[in-house]
Amino acid sequence: MDVREAALQRAHDHAVRWLGSLSDRRVPAGATVDDVVRALGAELPDAPADTPADVVELLATACEPGLTAFPGGRFYGFVVGGGEPAALAADWLVSAWDQNCVMRAVSPAHTAVEDLAGAWLLDLLGLPRGSAVGFTTGATMANFTCLAAGRDAVLRRVGWNVARDGLTGGPRVRVLAGESRHMAVDLALRYLGLGEPELVPADDQGRIKSEELRESLAAGGPGPTIVVLQAGDVHSGAFDPFAEAIDAARAAEAWVHVDGAFGLWAAASPRYARLTAGCEQADSWATDAHKTLNVPYDCGLAFVRDPGALRAAMGLHGDYLIQDERGDPFDKVPELSRRGRAFTVWAALRSLGRSGVTDLVERLCRHASSFAAGIAGLDGATVLNDVVFTQVCAHFGDDERTERVLGRLLDDGTAWISGSTWRGRRVMRIAVSNWSTTDDDVSRTLDAIRRAAA
Ligand SMILES: *Cc1c(COP(=O)(O)O)cnc(C)c1O
Repeated sequence: MDVREAALQRAHDHAVRWLGSLSDRRVPAGATVDDVVRALGAELPDAPADTPADVVELLATACEPGLTAFPGGRFYGFVVGGGEPAALAADWLVSAWDQNCVMRAVSPAHTAVEDLAGAWLLDLLGLPRGSAVGFTTGATMANFTCLAAGRDAVLRRVGWNVARDGLTGGPRVRVLAGESRHMAVDLALRYLGLGEPELVPADDQGRIKSEELRESLAAGGPGPTIVVLQAGDVHSGAFDPFAEAIDAARAAEAWVHVDGAFGLWAAASPRYARLTAGCEQADSWATDAHKTLNVPYDCGLAFVRDPGALRAAMGLHGDYLIQDERGDPFDKVPELSRRGRAFTVWAALRSLGRSGVTDLVERLCRHASSFAAGIAGLDGATVLNDVVFTQVCAHFGDDERTERVLGRLLDDGTAWISGSTWRGRRVMRIAVSNWSTTDDDVSRTLDAIRRAAA
């Protein structure tokens, strides 16, 4: 075996062991940052390691205690997804193949797969055929990418060329978003030089109030405007009322963008598609593949109805590049050099098929409903949100008790659930996003919550 093969074999062995441990290991990490630093050794070695396999061995054994079981079935913090097996294995190939996926002509395999996966995604998510699909690092950058296309387009309509003249001295772009939008939207707007959005009131579940949106738009008068809507609130799972909100935005000739990092996938289920109904009328949409679709980190998706608008914002011309008149992958994302993210997305979709994606979405929702029902049955516990999708927010009588329950639950180690503050109260916030979560994981977690609340 040559040294490279030995290193890969060692990595494979450790990966298989790690994945095999997920169903029973404690979910929180068992070692601290300092523990891991000590185990690795802080000194930069003067000389090469004996073999690459030795390096892999040291890395794996020193880090293993400091790993959190993110890809397991009982991690319900943030919204994290997991690694569907075909996607995970494909991701290894992506590293081995090491294709730079910027140019259509130079990486034909990736371009083919990107085109195929892009068309499948539009179909599954009910988005307009022919929209441009860009593969980004995550939903933050997908939001950035879509909003860049929107910013440039609304300014172009009033005769201002951002690519050439920048923002300085140009007309102000109004951006309106619901008060319950995700902070990643603010981040994307900041990167784009658009400042903070004007916030439109939302209802008790976080849904933008479309009449208030309509009034704010009318009060501001004409001018370059962007409206940001949301599919899937991180606390309640709620979806904005797309048909009415987009109607209001259209009356003001605004560019409409939808942040659907995990919620856009409701469209792939006939049972939940009513939640996203109307959102296909928007101009752009951002989602993650590393959340609901369960491809390994990192992978976000930017969809823009008008491919020309995206190309105007992201495309470039370089004398040494080999460009294709049909457009190149780099015309659709901020990066030039990048890894072959479409390979993993294609593998997840090819592995699940249409019904598998539907089942995945519905299973996550079903587990969330089981959590809500189980928690509602506990003494002094209340589920605060309408559980319409994959998110559950509960509190345990008062903020102090809720904190204590969360602390005890983490110490218990059966599951990982984060706390948050929602509508002025401390809450236990559950996000079901992992493909491998089973009914047994849910009941083991409910037992742990029961113990923590006792
Ligand atoms: C996770 C999330 C984001 C940010 O996505 P990243 O992949 O972490 O960049 C944006 N919006 C919503 C609603 C999210 O849930």
